[in-house]
Amino acid sequence: MIETAKAQIDALLADDPPIAVLTGAGCSAESGVPTFRGAEGLWKQYRPEELASPEAFARDPDLVWEWYAWRRERLFPCQPNAAHRIIAAMERRFGDFSLITQNVDGLHQLAGSTDVVELHGNIWRVFDPIGSYDEVVRVATLDEVPPRCPQTGNLLRPGVVWFGEALPPDAIQAADAAMSRFKVLFVVGTSAVVYPAAYFPVIAKRHGAFVVEINPDATSLSEMVDIALPMKAGEALPQLFPDLVTP
Ligand code: NAD
Repeated sequence: MIETAKAQIDALLADDPPIAVLTGAGCSAESGVPTFRGAEGLWKQYRPEELASPEAFARDPDLVWEWYAWRRERLFPCQPNAAHRIIAAMERRFGDFSLITQNVDGLHQLAGSTDVVELHGNIWRVFDPIGSYDEVVRVATLDEVPPRCPQTGNLLRPGVVWFGEALPPDAIQAADAAMSRFKVLFVVGTSAVVYPAAYFPVIAKRHGAFVVEINPDATSLSEMVDIALPMKAGEALPQLFPDLVTP
């Protein structure tokens, strides 16, 4: 199956069309980052939806920050996997390339991607919602939990988009523009249940893009895509792009 898919994809990419990659939590699963919907998605008895919201933060910032502190600690040692590395190499190889991610882990940048549209923000970013403090603090353990602005003492919050919040307008604009423009879209490791990202492949398809899904499990997109590869990202991408494999 992968050989047939590779031949089809090679033919499509031969004249360097605009291409895009949309990634979700599954792209980082082989780096040891748990997906939300996997068995390790729960923290204590809470579902992410119960903690990642402005209401939860207003109600109990200590609890929400305790969860983020736990996630940061687990994320810190995680390294990019073969999928992140191939995607970074794709940016260098193809003339017109967009990477749009739902991930907040920063692993694409660690792998060498320089132009990443982060739809849901970045977990290492910490900012003051009422002041100007805004920093990327990539450390395993924060000095204080919950963290406070060193100048004003204001309570800081994680730089991620929470349930019920709007996505960053510039990220949405960039993603929208990409979806109507490119000719080939790779959808890697997303369950396609979180909107609006779940809708992007549908828009792309409507604009005539060739859509390739890489996910070991079937999703609501699998039926509509041109190729659904039921494989792990770190296995499929190196087979599709063997000349982009780096150690
Ligand atoms: P999800 O957890 O809903 O789904 C993950 C998908 O990845 C599933 O469909 C699963 O079958 C697939 N998958 C698992 N292992 C895979 C692998 N090795 N290769 C390819 N696919 C694999 O994730 P989502 O669709 O990104 O949506 C969840 C939300 O949770 C997003 O908003 C995202 O911001 C957030 N989230 C981010 C991270 C992260 O930054 N790494 C981790 C967990 C959740």
